[in-house]
Amino acid sequence: MTEWKCSDCGYSMSGDKPPEVCPSCQHKCEFIDVTCYIPECKEEGRDYRL
Ligand SMILES: [Zn+2]
Repeated sequence: MTEWKCSDCGYSMSGDKPPEVCPSCQHKCEFIDVTCYIPECKEEGRDYRL
């Protein structure tokens, strides 16, 4: 699973692919991959720095 974050409104969700349209702001936003792979954020699942 990949964590995606809307670069527009900051909405984040997990899935294989980023959604076509952001469920939060209803726009075709750019989704950034915020999946965290370092051990520090294993609990959270996403990179807290993003
Ligand atoms: Zn959005």
